[in-house]
Amino acid sequence: MQGLMQQSPLTVDTILDHAKLWHGGREVVTRSIEGPIVRTTYAQIHERAKRLSNALLNLGIRPGDRVATLAWNTGRHIEAWYGVMGIGAVCHTLNPRLFPEQLTWIINHAEDRIIFTDLTFVPVLEEILAKCPSVEHVVVMTDAGHMPAFQVKPVPAMAFKRAYAFESLVEESSPDCAWGGFDENTAAGLCYTSGTTGDPKGVLYSHRSNFLHTLIGLQKDVFGIGASDVVLPIVPMFHANAWGLAFDCPAVGAKLVMPGAKMDGASVHELIETEGVTFSAAVPTVWQMLLQHLDATKGKITRMKRVVIGGSACPESIIRGFHDRYGVEVIHAWGMTEMSPLGTLGTPTAETAEMPFDQQLPYMLKQGRPPMGVQLRLLDDEGRELPHDGKTFGRLMVKGHAVVREYFKGAGGQILDSDGYFDTGDVATIDPAGFMQITDRAKDVIKSGGEWISSIDIENIAMGHPKAELAAVIGVPHPKWDERPLLLVKLKPGETATKEEFLQYLDGKIAKWWMPDDVLFVDDIPLGATGKIDKKILRQRHGDHVLP
Ligand code: ADP
Repeated sequence: MQGLMQQSPLTVDTILDHAKLWHGGREVVTRSIEGPIVRTTYAQIHERAKRLSNALLNLGIRPGDRVATLAWNTGRHIEAWYGVMGIGAVCHTLNPRLFPEQLTWIINHAEDRIIFTDLTFVPVLEEILAKCPSVEHVVVMTDAGHMPAFQVKPVPAMAFKRAYAFESLVEESSPDCAWGGFDENTAAGLCYTSGTTGDPKGVLYSHRSNFLHTLIGLQKDVFGIGASDVVLPIVPMFHANAWGLAFDCPAVGAKLVMPGAKMDGASVHELIETEGVTFSAAVPTVWQMLLQHLDATKGKITRMKRVVIGGSACPESIIRGFHDRYGVEVIHAWGMTEMSPLGTLGTPTAETAEMPFDQQLPYMLKQGRPPMGVQLRLLDDEGRELPHDGKTFGRLMVKGHAVVREYFKGAGGQILDSDGYFDTGDVATIDPAGFMQITDRAKDVIKSGGEWISSIDIENIAMGHPKAELAAVIGVPHPKWDERPLLLVKLKPGETATKEEFLQYLDGKIAKWWMPDDVLFVDDIPLGATGKIDKKILRQRHGDHVLP
């Protein structure tokens, strides 16, 4: 027997419709690329996004066409997202931190027809567009007064026609445009994984998966934000959907504060204080910069109560720094592009919430527990399920309403196991309280004498050394043990240190046989396009280091 309840497609345009009706006056504040702070509201964003939809239709965009954005977090970027998705086109977020050749490859693979770009990235596009034959138009996210002369050297085969100023398109187009009305499984967004192994692969989100991911994100133990919150998404919209915040905030009417191109400690702190930010989300490196700025300037945090930190492992020094010096609660989270991206969060349980801070800390350092809507399990190499004992390492497998089923255009072939689980490529443990801990990426794990050593654990502890700015651990070949850990440290400016100082610092904090065989002080620890340490480059540079 079927239920007798109403059914309407779960499409994301309805999120902004709701925001306009019930939170229409709520502000969206942007540090604009042109410079000044710009204030708008959900009602205005809704109207302008509809105008953009009409502009896109007039430029020939049809359902299923890919429209890309190469942009920072701004109010205009939100308008572009909803304007594209509302008419059933696919919003493809390009990561501007990629190299021009990677961007070219991805634009061509996605067959983007239009690219929205911030002023910042105009030179990159001018350089690469001649190699992107699918791109017909560029929309520069500025007004006519700031519009650059956009010059691509056209080659005969390319479709490129012209560049428009975003504001001119908005002004010239009608606000009457019907959104939605299509199947909820229609594609809404496209985001490529960074491709650290092989070519990048596209994750094609649907309206339904984004809508359900929004409901996942709004659970109390996930982001738990509401109408009275002021949210600063520092995590970029081009990086796994800003972890869903561009949907979550309008859904509940939270004020949005968009940082634009400035993510340094001083700029972030200024926005947090002047706009009354209560909640924010970013990768660890951003928070490291903020804490350094606050400590150096004796800055204060007035209203911000909670920050979510994810994308890579959050070091203890950040959790302690926020807690001890600024009274801010850190929620450590894990996820991936393929999961839209939320996977687990370290929100306290009834039991851990009662513990004194020092006892809670080991739980906070883990990546946390899955919310409803995400299923997790650990498997060994033979596909057997492993126990949740907090010790046994295994491959972390995931399943859920917002988890990838297949990559765009079938890249990588069949990616689910026979039970429908996706292999995250992460190696993890799960403890009896349900807290998952990433011990490594499968490809970064160090195999020493047949046992696994977690590079992440050692890095996190080394990062707590007062002289360390960044630390990374890689495995280097060893005649007896196959591989042994090598610790690479980038010191804070002006510092000097010895190998012994770092080894002593680790002593007693990790198992003896995990102790790095050597420590190298380096000028550079390269970060990839999503802010994670690029171990592939480190292995190229230091993989043949001769251990003492
Ligand atoms: P995102 O960085 O948004 O999570 P990516 O798809 O670029 O998306 O990267 C996902 C990978 O990043 C995960 O598979 C995991 O290896 C790593 N990662 C994400 N969050 C954490 C975390 N809190 N701790 C350790 N690793 C993490």
